[in-house]
Amino acid sequence: RRPLARYAHNLASLRTPKGHVQVPTGLFIGNEFVRSRQGSVLPVINPATEESMLQVEAAQEEDVNDAVQAATDALDGLWSKLKPSERARLLFNLSELIQDHAQELACLESLDSGKPFHTVMESDLGDTLDCFRYFAGWADKIQGRSGGPYDNAYTTYTRHEPIGVIGAIIPWNYPLMMMAWKLGPSLACGNTVVIKPSEHTALSALKLGELIRKAGFPSGVVNIVPGLGASAGRVISHHPHIAKVTFTGSTKSGKNIIRASADPIKKLSLELGGKSPHIVFADAKLDEAVEWAFQGVFANAGQSCSAGSRIYVQSSVHDEFLSKLIKRVKSVVLGCPFEPKTTQGPQISEAQMKSILNHIERAQKQGAKIETGGRRRQGVGYYMEPTVLSGCRQDMDIVHEEVFGPVVSVSSFGTLEEAIRLANDTQYGLGSGVHTQSISTAMACIDKIKAGNVWVNCYDVLQTGTCFGGFKQSGIGKELGEYALADYTNIKQVVIKT
Ligand code: NAD
Repeated sequence: RRPLARYAHNLASLRTPKGHVQVPTGLFIGNEFVRSRQGSVLPVINPATEESMLQVEAAQEEDVNDAVQAATDALDGLWSKLKPSERARLLFNLSELIQDHAQELACLESLDSGKPFHTVMESDLGDTLDCFRYFAGWADKIQGRSGGPYDNAYTTYTRHEPIGVIGAIIPWNYPLMMMAWKLGPSLACGNTVVIKPSEHTALSALKLGELIRKAGFPSGVVNIVPGLGASAGRVISHHPHIAKVTFTGSTKSGKNIIRASADPIKKLSLELGGKSPHIVFADAKLDEAVEWAFQGVFANAGQSCSAGSRIYVQSSVHDEFLSKLIKRVKSVVLGCPFEPKTTQGPQISEAQMKSILNHIERAQKQGAKIETGGRRRQGVGYYMEPTVLSGCRQDMDIVHEEVFGPVVSVSSFGTLEEAIRLANDTQYGLGSGVHTQSISTAMACIDKIKAGNVWVNCYDVLQTGTCFGGFKQSGIGKELGEYALADYTNIKQVVIKT
């Protein structure tokens, strides 16, 4: 085995309006920051200024092999000998360190992804901490079940064992949170991890590597390998020593990963895309529904898998709802992620911005009306105006295709049955929202909507202790909650002849 290429000058210093922040730029393998063996690098672009801020090492096949080897060694070594309560302690240590370094992490997340700094501090970091703490609490409570001596001749029980090395691949829209969603359950259950952040957002992941080492995790338990999907991601998907792949990203990439992970067969969890319906009935508290509908799609510059990007409003209140929504959307403050007044930052990349503009142009050609927005903001940065499209028919592409940007289609419906039919007319099944004051209308929607999440009189409210995941083309398996534990363990039946 060749030694890793230790990296002497692996710290970069970035200037931010909150002060200088240091970030490691190497691959994090075996608790060391190392160089890519082939010398590959990724540029780190600030989407608010379009400037290249620095370069980080980019993992290629050999580097992923190194990371898998480190994770395998850790599994065979100290990690598996730790008591579950020790795993819990390490996860709690990590959450304390994240809290201590919150400002630096938030600076990196804002620079790299364009999210408003205050949103990262209040929301992304809060959810990240919640997730690590929640799974820390599980680490020493993972147990099998006893079959009991019901059959005189046999005693049976189950063991919930670690699966092995987990390969995790995550997107750019919630970089820190996605790290937590994958690392939390993996580590609580006693697995080791090779995780690939998105090529667009490696910085907060690498900073987290520094904190993971500081928290006291043994070498190789967590390995962080930024790189491209087509290289590092592909290698993780079919690596023979990775036992499970957990992926969050687009449905298209999810299908590629299913194919790549077929030989040798791996366990798979997939959190994929969405085109979630948000239904507003005439009896809803309209102002509240407008606010939830607004937040439901425009939060995070529209870059959320569960964005409620198709709004259906009952005909009698459609016009009133639409004018209130337009007014709310016009109050958005587009701007520098570090400005306290900013409510929407830039999109992640130029390519993403162009794709959003293309969706809007096609919608317009197919007959949708732009009520507000529709353009790129003039000047520097990948800023998109938040956009409301009205008069959207069910046969238009905009009602079926995930835009992943600040764009919403608004349509009207007549009856409850029609609303449910429209909501379910999609290949996806991730989120859904229902606004009504009638318990029977709400219950009918809960019963009939084919989606992994139904939010009633609210939207996109995350419950770390329950679960998150999609139906249909939106994915396989569940993140968060006790449900995630089942996805990160191998369940073994033991039968003893007594
Ligand atoms: P993406 O699929 O382009 O990339 C996601 C990750 O997969 C990245 O790390 C990328 O490098 C990697 N990747 C790409 N192709 C790969 C391949 N062939 N093999 C292995 N890895 C590969 O998605 P994105 O643009 O980063 O994120 C946006 C998408 O993610 C949206 O569709 C969104 O709905 C989805 N998403 C879903 C959830 C959820 O929980 N369901 C959460 C966040 C984002």
